[in-house]
Amino acid sequence: MLVFSAICPHPPILIPTIGKDNIKQIKNTVEAMKNLEQELYAAKPDVIIIISPHGEMIPDAFCLNLNSNYQANFEDFGDFTTKLEFKSSPMLALKIKERVENELPIVLSSSDKIDHGAAVPLFYLTKHLKDIEIIPLCYSFLDFNAHFQFGQLLKKEIAKSEKRVALIASGDMSHCLIKGAPAGYSPKGAEFDKEFQTLLKRKDIPGILKMKPKLIEDAAECGFRSFAILFGVIEEYKFEVDVMSYEGPFGVGYMVANFKLV
Ligand SMILES: [Zn+2]
Repeated sequence: MLVFSAICPHPPILIPTIGKDNIKQIKNTVEAMKNLEQELYAAKPDVIIIISPHGEMIPDAFCLNLNSNYQANFEDFGDFTTKLEFKSSPMLALKIKERVENELPIVLSSSDKIDHGAAVPLFYLTKHLKDIEIIPLCYSFLDFNAHFQFGQLLKKEIAKSEKRVALIASGDMSHCLIKGAPAGYSPKGAEFDKEFQTLLKRKDIPGILKMKPKLIEDAAECGFRSFAILFGVIEEYKFEVDVMSYEGPFGVGYMVANFKLV
C-alpha cells in the first residue's frame, strides 16, 4: 500500500559536509527536508521507491536497480566520510518489473552503488529508518506520457503489496534561473518553475502533463520525468499537495512537495 509520496531535490550541497557555509542559503530546503523526514517516519514505511534522474540511464527503457544491498557515498563531491547503506526489496522489485514489461520497456540492472539523485534525499529521509528497504529506479528519455503510464503500472503493484510503500520522485527544477547558473541564464527557467508550481498547487496533473515541451526543455530541468511517474501513481488517490519549500539561490530550482493522502 502507498503510505507516502513526495518530490525532493538532490543538490549535493544539501549534505552539510559538502555545502558547508553555502547551506545557509538553502535553509528553507534543509528545514523542509527535516520536516518531510518526520512525516515519512510517522508513515512507517517498509520500503522506499526512489526515482532518480542520475542513475544508470538507458534512453529507451526504464531501469530498475536490483541488487542485494546498496551503498552511497559522496566522494565525487569531496566528502569521504558520509556513507549510507540500504537493503533491497527483491520481491516487490521483481513484481514491478513483471508488471511493467508487458507494456513498457524496462531493464534490470545490478549495482551496489546508488547515485546522488537518490542518495541526497535518502540522506535526509532515512535518518531514523535504519532498516528501510529501497528500490532505485531511473527514468528514461521516452515521452512524458510513457512516464505517467509507468507510474500507473507502478501504482498497481504498490496497491497490491502488503508492504508500506513510500515513493520519492527526486528531481530539480530549472537549472537556468540566474546568470552563472549551471545551464546559463534563461527567463524560461523561472517561467517553468512558476507555472509548474501554480498547476501543482491546483492539483492540475493533466495541466502539468500538457505544459509546452519547448518550455520544459528550455528550463533545463532534471525532474519532470520523475514527477510524471509520481503523478501516474498518485492521480487516482485523494490527496492534498503541500509545497513545503521552493528556492533557487544558485540558479537551480529546489522544490520539496509532500502529497498527503486523504
Ligand atoms: Zn538533477
